[in-house]
Amino acid sequence: MTINLPESVKKIIAILKQAGYDAYAVGGCVRDSLLDREPDDWDITTSALPEQVKQLFKRTIDTGIKHGTVTVLMKPDSMKAYARQHVKEHIKEQNAKELSSPAWETYEVTTYRIDGEYEDSRHPKEVSFTDNLMEDLKRRDFTINAMAFNEEAGIVDAFSGMEDLKKGIIRAVGNPEERFTEDALRMMRAVRFAAQLGYEIEEETKKAIKKLAYTLKNISGERIQTELVKLVMSNHPEQMRLLYTTGVTGIIMPEFDLAMETEQNHPHHCYSVGEHIIHSMEAVDNQKVLRLTMLFHDIGKPLKHTVEADGYDHFHGHAEKSADIARDILKRLKFDNDTIDRVTRLVLYHDYKIEPEKKYVRRAIHKIGEDIFPDYLQVQRADIAAQSDYMRKEKLERLEAVERLYEEIIRNQECVSLKTLALKGDDLMEEGIKPGREMGIILKEMLELVLEDNTRNNRKFLLEYLKNRNN
Ligand code: ATP
Ligand code: MG
Repeated sequence: MTINLPESVKKIIAILKQAGYDAYAVGGCVRDSLLDREPDDWDITTSALPEQVKQLFKRTIDTGIKHGTVTVLMKPDSMKAYARQHVKEHIKEQNAKELSSPAWETYEVTTYRIDGEYEDSRHPKEVSFTDNLMEDLKRRDFTINAMAFNEEAGIVDAFSGMEDLKKGIIRAVGNPEERFTEDALRMMRAVRFAAQLGYEIEEETKKAIKKLAYTLKNISGERIQTELVKLVMSNHPEQMRLLYTTGVTGIIMPEFDLAMETEQNHPHHCYSVGEHIIHSMEAVDNQKVLRLTMLFHDIGKPLKHTVEADGYDHFHGHAEKSADIARDILKRLKFDNDTIDRVTRLVLYHDYKIEPEKKYVRRAIHKIGEDIFPDYLQVQRADIAAQSDYMRKEKLERLEAVERLYEEIIRNQECVSLKTLALKGDDLMEEGIKPGREMGIILKEMLELVLEDNTRNNRKFLLEYLKNRNN
């Protein structure tokens, strides 16, 4: 078994070895290479101490000296070769200059270490350095993440990581309860890796998660966010179910548990709220905003549940409620404002039905937002796919008609917001209207007229309207 190391990684390992230290590629990059997946990043583990690493490389950043991590900057080799080639071919000097300063590649080089207890943040409270690779591998979370490789030693696999990779198993290194007590986030990482790789969690490891899930209350929102996002964007978002059955969502997102426990007796539905949510996540593209929107789109239903005279379950006002809850959860998990804004808007409008007529579609684009309207269409499609097949054909026909009209509106560059209204604030000022409330009202009235009928979006019509309005 061998791994094709990138040139820069080979070079870093060679430099460390020449200086008398030991060094290996380690962790996620070894796992991903063995699975024929492109690693996100290449981490290197070494017996050299941080100060020694810094002395050996020209360009370094003190990423986490206390925890043994130095980032080494390397010039990408392929870029150097490419630049040389171009210089040879007498490409313009300007071009050659650009090519000779490519973006730096970064590699985290970390000293072999033994971890103390982890803090709420990214790093353990105390670490001690060691010159023993085995000690370093022992501190890692799962067997498949605890392998090291260099060309001389081949794969170092002290915990049967290869076997677990082949079997498709996530297994804690050593005693799972101890490992999760050191760092509770590892429980979410277990489920996240199961979702990314399509693996099973080994029984003892799973049992330990069920027992210790409550300790996730000590973990910061940021760290939980990272793992949640990787899970929902994976090929197996249905592993949300495993987060629920292991008791993890009970701690990080109890609102989801309520959804899992709310049935929907209604012709349009065939699943509980939670199962409908999971199926809708599977039905949508694996983009962050879309997957999060599906996760939250019906999460307010349990709080809006009524049984009506028709004998069916109803959830009036659930979209607003779901949007409120989504905002709460996203804030709790420290998501950025742009994600919070997009997801909550999509959740709020996920159930908004548009009649397939151009004026209604233009109004809806204005209301929902031009930026997220294509996402809204995808959300609707995924929502329908996760409902019962009652009236599915009609629902899809309406949606497809709306999609066609949307495409036409975009193609024709029809006005759907003040940005493209034929009259601007400046034009109104020339007509003697001062900026302020009144101007705002007039612009809005004009936009309404144009949304209704796009042929009105010209100066002549709108100035005429203004004249009559003031009389
Ligand atoms: P990803 O594909 O998300 O990068 P990864 O396994 O590389 O997955 P990283 O967070 O980049 O995850 O960590 C690199 C390696 O460090 C892991 O493979 C694992 O060996 C170790 N590691 C990371 N986080 C922990 C943790 N919380 N507890 C123990 N070991 C960890
Ligand atoms: Mg990684």
